Amino acid sequence: MDITLLGTGSPLPSPDRAGPATLLRTGTATLLFDCGRGVVMRLAAAGVLPLGLSAVLLTHLHSDHISDLNDIVTTHWVMSPVPTPLRVVGPPGTQGVVDAVLAMLALDQKYRLAHHATLEAAPVIEVTEVEPGDALEIAGAHIAVHRTDHRPVTPTVGYRVEQDGVVAAVAGDTVPCPELDEMCGGADLYVQTVIRADLVQNIPNLRLQDILTYHSTLEQAALTATRARVGTLVLTHYVPPMQPGDVEEWRALAAAHFAGPIVLGDDLTTVSITKP
Ligand SMILES: [Zn+2]
Ligand SMILES: [Zn+2]
Repeated sequence: MDITLLGTGSPLPSPDRAGPATLLRTGTATLLFDCGRGVVMRLAAAGVLPLGLSAVLLTHLHSDHISDLNDIVTTHWVMSPVPTPLRVVGPPGTQGVVDAVLAMLALDQKYRLAHHATLEAAPVIEVTEVEPGDALEIAGAHIAVHRTDHRPVTPTVGYRVEQDGVVAAVAGDTVPCPELDEMCGGADLYVQTVIRADLVQNIPNLRLQDILTYHSTLEQAALTATRARVGTLVLTHYVPPMQPGDVEEWRALAAAHFAGPIVLGDDLTTVSITKP
């Protein structure tokens, strides 16, 4: 199983970090978790076209995690030689977001359908709205849906993916909570979006201070990893954007609370886990 941090950014614009998106590849499944700013460019860099995705799985419907869903939809559609459904999984509300994206693209679809003789039908998006406790099987990967806590944003979910005895837990924005611990329990790898509370607190912007209440800090993510006895901790969604040369400082803050390997870095950082 390979995990690639396609986008390690956040809502804060960064020239180097795309918006939140994580790619998980097994031998049979290619799963995209969230689709923030620039996701199709980063997918291309990872050697994957939207048509190659088994599914898009959304952790929640905050704009930074879904802003480039429209690009996934259009690129998947236009590059499909024959009509091919795009599967989108997400919490309740996902169907409404997909409907709105399609509405936004209605004129584009009209133009392209009129212009391309080989394009005969509008895009087909198969939406599955999931609740905590649901289980899915996608392209050979077993996926369990877990509740996370990003209140007042609700509902939010994380996904525990298992295939051939290898387990990855992919969380979106959340504070630590028992359900998150359960999702991560004994996982080989745990992906968590994080913020640096110590840096955010020093930014003189009141609106930014609000984010402190509903994200995991580096330290909290490390403590979750320790409680849940995960193998490798993977950190992403750096707020503020991690600066060149700061990787070891960030890693050390987490390493104070988690003894295992910690992965963080630039967009396209990839970690592979194999069955022991
Ligand atoms: Zn969020
Ligand atoms: Zn976010």
